[in-house]
Amino acid sequence: MHVTLCFGLSTAGPRNFPCYVNDSRMNSTCFLLFFGFCLCFSGAASPPNFVLLFADDLGFGDLGCYGHPTSLTPNLDRLAAGGLRFTDFYCTSPACSPSRASLLTGRYQTRSGIYPGVLYPGSVGGLPLNETTIAEVLKPLGYATAAIGKWHLGLGKNGTFLPTRQGFDHFLGIPYSHDQGPCSNLTCFPPDVKCFGVCDVGCVTVPLMYNEVIKQQPVNFLDLEEAYSDFATNFIFTSVKKKQPFFLYYPSHHTHYPQYAGEGAAGKSQRGPFGDALLELDNTIGNLLTTLEKTGVINNTLIFFSADNGPELMRMSRGGNAGPLKCGKSTTYDGGMREPAIAYWPGTIRPGVTHELASTLDILPTFVRLAGAELPKVMLDGVDMTELLIKQAKSKRETMMFYPTDATEKHGLFALRLGKYKAHFYTQGSIKSSTTPDHDCPGSAILKAHDPPLLFDLEADPSENYPLPLSKRPELQAVLEQIEKVKQQFEASMVFGVSQMLKGQDSSLEPCCNPQCTPKPSCCQC
Ligand code: MG
Repeated sequence: MHVTLCFGLSTAGPRNFPCYVNDSRMNSTCFLLFFGFCLCFSGAASPPNFVLLFADDLGFGDLGCYGHPTSLTPNLDRLAAGGLRFTDFYCTSPACSPSRASLLTGRYQTRSGIYPGVLYPGSVGGLPLNETTIAEVLKPLGYATAAIGKWHLGLGKNGTFLPTRQGFDHFLGIPYSHDQGPCSNLTCFPPDVKCFGVCDVGCVTVPLMYNEVIKQQPVNFLDLEEAYSDFATNFIFTSVKKKQPFFLYYPSHHTHYPQYAGEGAAGKSQRGPFGDALLELDNTIGNLLTTLEKTGVINNTLIFFSADNGPELMRMSRGGNAGPLKCGKSTTYDGGMREPAIAYWPGTIRPGVTHELASTLDILPTFVRLAGAELPKVMLDGVDMTELLIKQAKSKRETMMFYPTDATEKHGLFALRLGKYKAHFYTQGSIKSSTTPDHDCPGSAILKAHDPPLLFDLEADPSENYPLPLSKRPELQAVLEQIEKVKQQFEASMVFGVSQMLKGQDSSLEPCCNPQCTPKPSCCQC
């Protein structure tokens, strides 16, 4: 059946609601159907809800719906089958904190100062409060907002940088990565089975926080996913009951190292600890879908799934999988930054696959458009992808910029994608991408400058294995010139924000449930 997308005009309220019409004949029947449908749609007239799901260190090849043979991801596969699955979707950094800063602000992390590297439990800095997050653009429209899971955009003195200071009404979660604490006591299910691996030592154990208060330290990982699922369910029920639109942001700890899983998922996948952790995340997504269906808001909710950076290949079979893409975490090859992404909104987004270029940067402008909110009055790097989602139209995005984890003004961009071409001005491996046979990936692949840049055709060679022979193909000179022009224009627009990471760390800022206790950090247990 051929389906045509029509846009309702003022009947749908302040924004243009999309309506599908069975359109073998675009005639008066279609118009009436269309008009009636839009009236029905506008009868619901509440702004759409948003559920933003963000996995951690998940590779392009890790989901069943992206071709992994042993991952068990039935709910994500269901979202992909009923929604729009992206093949060319990028995060902005191959590391946690900077990638999250861009997701929530629609700006490259270099503008907000979330570089170099990531934030730590005692970091003095965090996502600056004058940055505008997705939660903050939706709040003025009456949205209820909640974040559950891994924040990793700062804690600071007296909780200065917690989600509750960045537009979220509620926060239940861990303020940073769950390996940023002595997790030697981390157990998998059954509870007497130790999880694989070791974590950071010399700092406080990992806390679970509700808003700005520590609820548990160390957190019990085996109960954590159920707590998140219950909290999210209650948040949705309460918001629907109050007839309040909502924004639920769930940046999961899964599938970051060290992997864990509670009773519902441990040992239940074919893929070992990584597969179990992924299954636990997938189970929660299933619970959220059920809740959205039960509360009758599934057709007025955009669910968007992606991940913060590529797989930590150094963990070998306990790391993720970049599929056909080159290298992984902490590199600017596509394996580090091209991610699975799915947009699901039954009745509004047609099922399909898109090869259009898109990014986490584009989520803020898209939510703004769909909610009828106002864009922050700052330099944004994201573009509105509403037409891409709803009409499967061409993307407004033509370029993608690649900064390394340790971005510097001196080096600037490491790579730039323009259409199907990607140019590498610098390449560098990382210890986090060690262990694969590709010699370009590990830490021993030192920083190399390329002039002219290495140029790849990502459509013909998505694995970035075969640099195009510039001397034998003079027509590529025009491509290089265009890329250089775009690079110069972009870098002229880039004002690096004050680095929050270079503000350093102060162990007294590490969260402790018993602040007066000694000796720290071991006494911080409640
Ligand atoms: Mg990560």
